[in-house]
Amino acid sequence: MIDKEENTLKQERDRRKRINQIKKGIIVTVGIWMLISIVLCVVLLVRVVQLEHNLKEITANLPQVEQVQNVAKQNSPQSDAKEAVSYNSDAKSNEDDSDTKSNIQNLAENGEQLKVYLTFDDGPSDNTDRILDILKQYNIKATFFVTGKTDEESQAAYQRIVKEGHTLGMHSYSHKYCVIYDSLDAFEQDFTQLHDYLYQVTGVDCKYYRFPGGSSNKVSNLDMREFIKYLNQQDITYFDWNVSSGDATSQAYTTDELIQNVMGDVTKYKTSVVLMHDSTAKSTTVDALPALIEQLQSIGAQILPIDENTTPIQHVSIDDSEQ
Ligand code: ZN
Repeated sequence: MIDKEENTLKQERDRRKRINQIKKGIIVTVGIWMLISIVLCVVLLVRVVQLEHNLKEITANLPQVEQVQNVAKQNSPQSDAKEAVSYNSDAKSNEDDSDTKSNIQNLAENGEQLKVYLTFDDGPSDNTDRILDILKQYNIKATFFVTGKTDEESQAAYQRIVKEGHTLGMHSYSHKYCVIYDSLDAFEQDFTQLHDYLYQVTGVDCKYYRFPGGSSNKVSNLDMREFIKYLNQQDITYFDWNVSSGDATSQAYTTDELIQNVMGDVTKYKTSVVLMHDSTAKSTTVDALPALIEQLQSIGAQILPIDENTTPIQHVSIDDSEQ
């Protein structure tokens, strides 16, 4: 009888022991898995941070990367914010054309009155009205190379540019380098879309074009002369620039530095086409504008809108024989 009881007790002890072992096993297994998961999460997090850092470095090192220029308007057909990084900027990198024939002919001589053409790329933006207000205040006419934006504010901005006597120029509908420079067909389509849209909104048959990134950009898949030929056939004159405010470079210039960038160069040329930007992110350009106009006036420069009498400033020129 006692033996039987002892036997039962022993079996019970063994059973509990086994259950405890199984419990321990389960807890250890779960613990190990949790630990592995945590370690994996940490490793992944570190990798993500590293990759983000690398991406930033690559972006910063690309000379032709255009930082997001506009905090995109909702209805904008091409939002720079969506584009995150577009390939090029109208930055200084492509404009080192100081040796070209046209530049030599364009060198200012002593006492000659200087012609200065202020040009604003990438608009309309939240800053367009401020720019127009300043130009109005000084009774100055400028040139706006615009992109295609369909929201009401942008339409009003195109109309105000025209109404107040400024020159409305084209700067591609989409401003997407990878799209417009992919083929002549794509370029034509984008060009026609913007030309017709601006005609519809303002009644102006635009005659002037600025290539996104300039004619000397390094991102086009095609020889830029193909596009230039096309524009010539459409009786469109394209304009690059020979003076840059530097407002498209990654360097954040102060208003004084922007003014200095312009004033340091305009005195060299008979005709200066000054590159600036009309985009939401570039309020320094707007802040610099009154003092820039005053300094240009103080040296007796004539500030004009681009028209048929303006000497074209072009980084890439093609001979008549190439047409
Ligand atoms: Zn641009």
